[in-house]
Amino acid sequence: MSHAIILDGTSLAAQQREALRPRIAALQGHGVRPRLDVIVAGDDPASAVYVRTKMRTAGEIGVESAVHRLSDTTSEEELLQRIAPLNADPLIHGILVQLPLPDHIASHHAIAAIAPEKDVDGFHPQNVGALVSGRPTIIPCTPAGIMVMLESGKVPLWGKHAVVVGTSNIVGKPVAMLLLQQGATVTLCNSKTPDLAAMTRQGDILIVAVGRPGLITGAMVKPGAAVIDVGISRLSNGKLSGDVDFDGACQVAGWISPVPGGVGPMTVAMLIANTVLAAERMQAPK
Ligand code: NAP
Repeated sequence: MSHAIILDGTSLAAQQREALRPRIAALQGHGVRPRLDVIVAGDDPASAVYVRTKMRTAGEIGVESAVHRLSDTTSEEELLQRIAPLNADPLIHGILVQLPLPDHIASHHAIAAIAPEKDVDGFHPQNVGALVSGRPTIIPCTPAGIMVMLESGKVPLWGKHAVVVGTSNIVGKPVAMLLLQQGATVTLCNSKTPDLAAMTRQGDILIVAVGRPGLITGAMVKPGAAVIDVGISRLSNGKLSGDVDFDGACQVAGWISPVPGGVGPMTVAMLIANTVLAAERMQAPK
């Protein structure tokens, strides 16, 4: 029985971070310490874990970070007022607003308030537009990490059929654009897709970003496919789960990414890479 190649996001993310060291050293040689500022509004427990991981990982590699904590009653106007001085500060290279925000704040307003050149999540409309038109400036972290994982496994994309399940602005849509730009034929599926299995079984590349454990079984995977599981859900036993039945899919797929230890660490590595890139661009002669 065949067994898939595991796309190990933990070790690949470590390699990606190590590759940043000389670039960070070069910036430091010019007196620049790359810095990421994170704004958190409210006390979503999952956000707290993600922010701690981002800051710890940044610090380990010499990227400075600061977190700006706002209460869950902060108004949208107050939040926007906190972003403006960060935009103007030349010592800050990356800014992100941790999502989700409290319901009374429109996340698209907060994202649009970030200076596009400091938008290390790549969610600002200007950066989204650049990505869609095929000249990306800053690539959103999770899709960027997925593309690096596929490249590390030498997964062929050109002329292949990529099926993306889940169409969020932060994962599904941008990764579909990147796959398209690499020559894949792309199908996007959502909760209204009538026969999901009929779609997923066509995917030479199958990207799943839904947030429903067990949604994709081995029987829904095309033999030899590259399966990237983006989902992260906390099960009642406390364990993390992706959207794909890993054991079942492993028997069918050619490549597969695990959860945990797959896309998650890659996302954080790409965030740090985007911060370093933003710092380099701010240094470059205009
Ligand atoms: P999201 O905004 O939560 O949207 C979910 C998407 O899944 C929607 O497009 C929805 O379709 C679709 N969907 C829901 N049920 C479905 C079904 N039964 N069949 C097919 N499609 C279905 O998505 P997200 O923010 O990208 O998050 C998705 C998952 O990825 C979550 O578990 C999240 O925690 C995880 N995530 C992980 C990382 C990482 O670094 N590893 C990063 C980001 C997100 P409709 O549009 O029709 O509602």
